[in-house]
Amino acid sequence: MREAGRINATVHAAVRDLLQPGVSTADLDAAAEDVLKKFGVVSPFKGYGHPPFPNSITVSINEELVHGIPSKDRKLKEGDIVSIDCGTYYQGYVADSAFTGGVGQISEKAAKLLEVTEKSLYAGIEKMRPGNMTGDVSEAIQQYVESHGYHVTREYTGHGVGKQMHEGPQVPNYGKAGTGVLLQPGVVIAIEPMVLIGTHRTKVAKDNWTVVSADGSLTAHFEHSIAVTEGEPLILTVL
Ligand code: MG
Ligand code: MG
Repeated sequence: MREAGRINATVHAAVRDLLQPGVSTADLDAAAEDVLKKFGVVSPFKGYGHPPFPNSITVSINEELVHGIPSKDRKLKEGDIVSIDCGTYYQGYVADSAFTGGVGQISEKAAKLLEVTEKSLYAGIEKMRPGNMTGDVSEAIQQYVESHGYHVTREYTGHGVGKQMHEGPQVPNYGKAGTGVLLQPGVVIAIEPMVLIGTHRTKVAKDNWTVVSADGSLTAHFEHSIAVTEGEPLILTVL
Protein backbone atom coordinates (compact mmCIF):
# COMPACT_ATOMS: atom_id res chain seq x y z
CA MET A 1 0.00 0.00 0.00
CA ARG A 2 2.97 2.28 0.64
CA GLU A 3 4.17 1.70 -2.92
CA ALA A 4 0.66 2.31 -4.27
CA GLY A 5 0.66 5.53 -2.26
CA ARG A 6 4.01 6.64 -3.70
CA ILE A 7 2.74 6.14 -7.21
CA ASN A 8 -0.42 8.07 -6.38
CA ALA A 9 1.69 10.95 -5.06
CA THR A 10 3.73 10.86 -8.27
CA VAL A 11 0.51 11.22 -10.26
CA HIS A 12 -0.49 14.19 -8.13
CA ALA A 13 2.87 15.90 -8.65
CA ALA A 14 2.59 15.51 -12.43
CA VAL A 15 -0.95 16.89 -12.50
CA ARG A 16 -0.15 19.75 -10.12
CA ASP A 17 2.51 21.01 -12.55
CA LEU A 18 -0.19 21.35 -15.22
CA LEU A 19 -2.61 23.51 -13.21
CA GLN A 20 -2.29 26.46 -15.57
CA PRO A 21 -4.77 28.58 -17.53
CA GLY A 22 -5.83 26.99 -20.83
CA VAL A 23 -5.01 23.41 -19.86
CA SER A 24 -8.03 21.14 -20.30
CA THR A 25 -9.19 18.75 -17.62
CA ALA A 26 -8.70 15.93 -20.17
CA ASP A 27 -5.02 17.00 -20.40
CA LEU A 28 -4.77 16.48 -16.63
CA ASP A 29 -6.25 13.01 -16.95
CA ALA A 30 -3.83 12.20 -19.80
CA ALA A 31 -0.87 13.27 -17.64
CA ALA A 32 -2.12 11.03 -14.83
CA GLU A 33 -2.52 8.12 -17.26
CA ASP A 34 1.06 8.61 -18.47
CA VAL A 35 2.40 8.21 -14.93
CA LEU A 36 0.19 5.21 -14.18
CA LYS A 37 1.31 3.57 -17.44
CA LYS A 38 4.96 4.19 -16.63
CA PHE A 39 4.50 2.23 -13.41
CA GLY A 40 2.41 -0.45 -15.16
CA VAL A 41 -0.60 0.18 -12.92
CA VAL A 42 -4.18 1.36 -13.30
CA SER A 43 -6.54 3.61 -11.40
CA PRO A 44 -9.50 1.93 -9.71
CA PHE A 45 -11.55 4.98 -10.72
CA LYS A 46 -11.78 3.87 -14.34
CA GLY A 47 -15.02 1.95 -14.85
CA TYR A 48 -16.10 2.49 -11.24
CA GLY A 49 -19.79 2.79 -10.40
CA HIS A 50 -22.90 3.41 -12.51
CA PRO A 51 -22.62 4.86 -15.03
CA PRO A 52 -19.00 3.61 -15.17
CA PHE A 53 -16.60 6.48 -14.46
CA PRO A 54 -14.71 7.06 -17.72
CA ASN A 55 -11.33 8.34 -16.51
CA SER A 56 -8.39 7.68 -14.17
CA ILE A 57 -8.79 10.83 -12.08
CA THR A 58 -11.65 13.10 -11.07
CA VAL A 59 -11.24 16.83 -11.65
CA SER A 60 -13.61 19.12 -9.75
CA ILE A 61 -13.40 22.88 -10.20
CA ASN A 62 -14.62 25.64 -7.82
CA GLU A 63 -18.23 24.81 -6.81
CA GLU A 64 -17.66 21.21 -7.94
CA LEU A 65 -16.86 19.31 -4.76
CA VAL A 66 -15.89 15.85 -6.03
CA HIS A 67 -16.31 13.36 -8.92
CA GLY A 68 -15.92 15.80 -11.85
CA ILE A 69 -15.40 14.06 -15.21
CA PRO A 70 -12.38 15.24 -17.26
CA SER A 71 -13.24 16.81 -20.61
CA LYS A 72 -11.26 18.30 -23.48
CA ASP A 73 -13.78 21.15 -23.60
CA ARG A 74 -13.26 22.18 -19.99
CA LYS A 75 -10.27 24.53 -19.75
CA LEU A 76 -8.73 25.80 -16.53
CA LYS A 77 -8.95 29.53 -15.89
CA GLU A 78 -6.82 31.88 -13.80
CA GLY A 79 -8.17 31.86 -10.24
CA ASP A 80 -9.85 28.44 -10.41
CA ILE A 81 -9.36 25.99 -7.57
CA VAL A 82 -9.11 22.44 -8.84
CA SER A 83 -9.56 19.25 -6.84
CA ILE A 84 -7.70 16.25 -8.22
CA ASP A 85 -8.61 12.83 -6.84
CA CYS A 86 -6.73 9.73 -7.96
CA GLY A 87 -6.38 6.10 -6.99
CA THR A 88 -3.63 3.59 -7.74
CA TYR A 89 -4.20 -0.15 -7.88
CA TYR A 90 -0.82 -1.83 -7.31
CA GLN A 91 -0.21 -5.56 -6.73
CA GLY A 92 -3.68 -6.08 -5.31
CA TYR A 93 -3.79 -3.00 -3.09
CA VAL A 94 -5.24 0.46 -3.49
CA ALA A 95 -4.10 3.92 -2.45
CA ASP A 96 -6.47 6.88 -2.65
CA SER A 97 -5.63 10.57 -2.23
CA ALA A 98 -6.73 14.00 -3.37
CA PHE A 99 -5.61 17.62 -3.24
CA THR A 100 -7.01 20.96 -4.32
CA GLY A 101 -4.69 23.42 -6.04
CA GLY A 102 -5.00 26.90 -7.49
CA VAL A 103 -4.62 28.04 -11.10
CA GLY A 104 -2.38 31.12 -11.19
CA GLN A 105 -3.37 33.77 -8.67
CA ILE A 106 -6.37 32.73 -6.55
CA SER A 107 -8.56 34.91 -4.34
CA GLU A 108 -7.88 35.30 -0.63
CA LYS A 109 -11.22 33.62 0.02
CA ALA A 110 -10.19 30.57 -2.03
CA ALA A 111 -6.73 30.43 -0.44
CA LYS A 112 -8.26 30.44 3.04
CA LEU A 113 -10.64 27.63 2.08
CA LEU A 114 -7.75 25.50 0.81
CA GLU A 115 -5.71 26.16 3.94
CA VAL A 116 -8.53 25.26 6.33
CA THR A 117 -9.50 22.14 4.37
CA GLU A 118 -5.94 20.83 4.23
CA LYS A 119 -5.35 21.56 7.92
CA SER A 120 -8.58 19.76 8.82
CA LEU A 121 -7.18 16.67 7.09
CA TYR A 122 -4.14 16.83 9.38
CA ALA A 123 -6.39 17.37 12.41
CA GLY A 124 -8.03 14.07 11.45
CA ILE A 125 -4.71 12.31 10.76
CA GLU A 126 -3.49 13.30 14.24
CA LYS A 127 -6.28 11.12 15.70
CA MET A 128 -5.19 7.99 13.76
CA ARG A 129 -3.67 6.30 16.80
CA PRO A 130 -4.33 2.93 18.41
CA GLY A 131 -7.09 3.08 21.01
CA ASN A 132 -8.87 6.01 19.33
CA MET A 133 -12.14 5.54 17.48
CA THR A 134 -13.10 6.63 13.96
CA GLY A 135 -15.45 9.15 15.61
CA ASP A 136 -12.40 10.91 17.05
CA VAL A 137 -11.16 11.49 13.49
CA SER A 138 -14.60 12.67 12.36
CA GLU A 139 -15.08 15.08 15.25
CA ALA A 140 -11.60 16.60 14.85
CA ILE A 141 -12.27 17.37 11.18
CA GLN A 142 -15.73 18.79 11.80
CA GLN A 143 -14.61 20.98 14.69
CA TYR A 144 -11.65 22.39 12.79
CA VAL A 145 -13.73 23.18 9.69
CA GLU A 146 -16.73 24.62 11.55
CA SER A 147 -14.50 26.74 13.82
CA HIS A 148 -13.56 28.61 10.61
CA GLY A 149 -17.20 29.07 9.58
CA TYR A 150 -17.19 26.46 6.81
CA HIS A 151 -19.25 23.31 6.35
CA VAL A 152 -18.46 19.61 5.93
CA THR A 153 -20.34 17.44 3.48
CA ARG A 154 -22.82 14.92 4.83
CA GLU A 155 -23.36 12.61 1.85
CA TYR A 156 -19.75 11.62 1.11
CA THR A 157 -17.29 10.16 3.59
CA GLY A 158 -13.82 8.91 4.17
CA HIS A 159 -13.47 5.14 4.18
CA GLY A 160 -11.34 2.13 4.82
CA VAL A 161 -9.01 1.32 1.93
CA GLY A 162 -7.06 -1.84 1.17
CA LYS A 163 -7.76 -4.51 -1.42
CA GLN A 164 -10.71 -2.39 -2.53
CA MET A 165 -10.87 1.37 -2.90
CA HIS A 166 -13.94 1.61 -0.67
CA GLU A 167 -13.92 -0.67 2.35
CA GLY A 168 -15.40 -0.30 5.80
CA PRO A 169 -15.56 1.57 8.00
CA GLN A 170 -17.07 4.75 6.66
CA VAL A 171 -15.44 7.75 8.29
CA PRO A 172 -17.66 10.82 7.91
CA ASN A 173 -16.26 14.34 8.20
CA TYR A 174 -18.63 14.93 11.12
CA GLY A 175 -19.34 12.93 14.26
CA LYS A 176 -18.67 12.36 17.91
CA ALA A 177 -15.43 11.32 19.54
CA GLY A 178 -15.59 7.92 21.23
CA THR A 179 -18.03 6.50 18.67
CA GLY A 180 -17.54 4.35 15.58
CA VAL A 181 -14.86 1.73 15.03
CA LEU A 182 -11.77 1.13 17.16
CA LEU A 183 -8.47 2.06 15.48
CA GLN A 184 -5.77 -0.61 15.73
CA PRO A 185 -2.35 -1.01 14.10
CA GLY A 186 -2.81 -2.11 10.49
CA VAL A 187 -6.09 -0.29 9.93
CA VAL A 188 -5.88 1.99 6.88
CA ILE A 189 -8.36 4.80 6.33
CA ALA A 190 -8.67 7.25 3.46
CA ILE A 191 -9.48 10.44 5.34
CA GLU A 192 -10.98 13.06 3.06
CA PRO A 193 -12.48 16.31 4.28
CA MET A 194 -14.83 17.82 1.68
CA VAL A 195 -15.52 21.39 2.67
CA LEU A 196 -18.02 23.98 1.41
CA ILE A 197 -18.12 27.71 2.11
CA GLY A 198 -21.89 28.29 1.94
CA THR A 199 -23.84 25.33 3.34
CA HIS A 200 -23.21 21.59 3.67
CA ARG A 201 -25.76 20.82 0.98
CA THR A 202 -24.78 19.33 -2.38
CA LYS A 203 -26.45 18.14 -5.55
CA VAL A 204 -25.40 15.86 -8.40
CA ALA A 205 -25.08 17.35 -11.88
CA LYS A 206 -26.80 16.01 -15.01
CA ASP A 207 -23.80 13.85 -15.88
CA ASN A 208 -24.76 11.71 -12.82
CA TRP A 209 -21.26 12.08 -11.36
CA THR A 210 -20.19 15.63 -10.63
CA VAL A 211 -21.14 16.69 -7.10
CA VAL A 212 -21.58 20.47 -6.71
CA SER A 213 -22.41 22.74 -3.78
CA ALA A 214 -26.17 23.33 -3.76
CA ASP A 215 -25.68 27.11 -3.50
CA GLY A 216 -22.81 27.36 -5.98
CA SER A 217 -20.28 28.36 -3.30
CA LEU A 218 -16.62 27.34 -3.48
CA THR A 219 -15.56 23.91 -2.23
CA ALA A 220 -12.32 22.06 -1.53
CA HIS A 221 -11.18 18.48 -0.93
CA PHE A 222 -7.98 16.95 0.47
CA GLU A 223 -7.36 13.26 1.09
CA HIS A 224 -4.61 10.89 2.23
CA SER A 225 -4.60 7.15 2.91
CA ILE A 226 -3.34 6.73 6.48
CA ALA A 227 -2.20 3.61 8.33
CA VAL A 228 -2.57 3.27 12.07
CA THR A 229 0.71 1.97 13.55
CA GLU A 230 1.95 1.33 17.10
CA GLY A 231 3.43 4.82 16.90
CA GLU A 232 2.80 7.84 14.71
CA PRO A 233 0.13 7.78 11.99
CA LEU A 234 1.73 6.72 8.70
CA ILE A 235 0.74 8.72 5.60
CA LEU A 236 0.94 6.24 2.72
CA THR A 237 0.12 8.63 -0.12
CA VAL A 238 3.31 10.70 -0.16
CA LEU A 239 6.51 10.33 -2.20
MG1 MG B 1 -10.08 9.78 -3.41
MG1 MG C 1 -11.52 8.24 -1.03
